[in-house]
Amino acid sequence: MNTVLLKNNEEDLIKASDMIRSGQIVGIPTETVYGLGADASNENAVRGIFSAKGRPADNPLIVHLADFSHASEYTSYIPEIAEKLAEKFCPGPLTMVLPKNEKIPMVTSGGLDTVGIRVPSHPVMHRIIELSGCPIAAPSANTSGYPSPTSASHVMNDMNGKISAVVDGGDSKYGVESTVISFDNENTARILRPGCITREMLLEVCENVIIDRAILNEVSAGEKVSSPGMKYKHYSPKADIIMAEASAEKLAEYVKLHDGENVYSLVYTGDEKYFPHRCLSYGADSVQQAHMLFAKLRELDESGAEKVYVRAPSAEGVGLAVYNRLIRAAGFEVIKL
Ligand code: AMP
Ligand code: MG
Repeated sequence: MNTVLLKNNEEDLIKASDMIRSGQIVGIPTETVYGLGADASNENAVRGIFSAKGRPADNPLIVHLADFSHASEYTSYIPEIAEKLAEKFCPGPLTMVLPKNEKIPMVTSGGLDTVGIRVPSHPVMHRIIELSGCPIAAPSANTSGYPSPTSASHVMNDMNGKISAVVDGGDSKYGVESTVISFDNENTARILRPGCITREMLLEVCENVIIDRAILNEVSAGEKVSSPGMKYKHYSPKADIIMAEASAEKLAEYVKLHDGENVYSLVYTGDEKYFPHRCLSYGADSVQQAHMLFAKLRELDESGAEKVYVRAPSAEGVGLAVYNRLIRAAGFEVIKL
């Protein structure tokens, strides 16, 4: 299959929407990361997403809508807390897990009776949903297990020849995937995947916000999880990632002792002076680190890195999203110096 690179203009967005309406798969920019979009109500199209990514069939896809008012077409019940959150955070990087109705096929929901609903704010994604008239299922547009794509070239790298087109909408604004929440009851939200809508922000609307245990802890084989994605290895480049809870100076000393030709470091911007060679930086604060993390993990692979020591980010605010992606990329291997 020839994968066409489309531009961010009305003519090309019409082409992309026509492709989606006819059951094809298109890489689409969103404000979080690039998504692999198809008509969420078309079982064959959705199967195509799973096979292009190599994604396990029980890992559900998020359904993207142009406006939260359309959520009632695809769900059987919307609690008041979800409506309140939507007023404040939609459109934006928040996914709410709600009971689905029969318009969402089981293939899309990975066999669950719930569906994750999101209203993206990216104008390109928004326009494609409007033009296609479809609810769009769109997981991150990476090969399953690999870091999520934050540019059209990342998507091409993973999906060239496997999907119909990629729309180039520039670099993703946030750089990490949406915050995914479910509801334990009318007052309590549970974070299943942290993102740029933080616990503190959710607490402006919800009485209680629980951070699911699996966000920072490895789930053991057979353990029941709140979200199927928690079971799988994620965000991993080819290189072996080791997270270090350390100051820049301590980490630099450690890396010198464990150095080798293909040993790299990924540190905070400003730390580089302590590391004489093979050092990349991923930003000075959590927002920058979210924005750059996945691109840097891909860049490390291109450099031929085999082992990468990463200076662990703060786990506060948006940092929790960065910490969560890295600890999974590291297979929960953390050293404390
Ligand atoms: P991705 O599609 O790559 O952005 O990943 C979507 C994440 O949201 C995965 O970790 C899924 O397991 C999670 N998710 C999507 N839908 C649901 C759902 N209905 N219930 C629980 N988790 C979900
Ligand atoms: Mg993903």
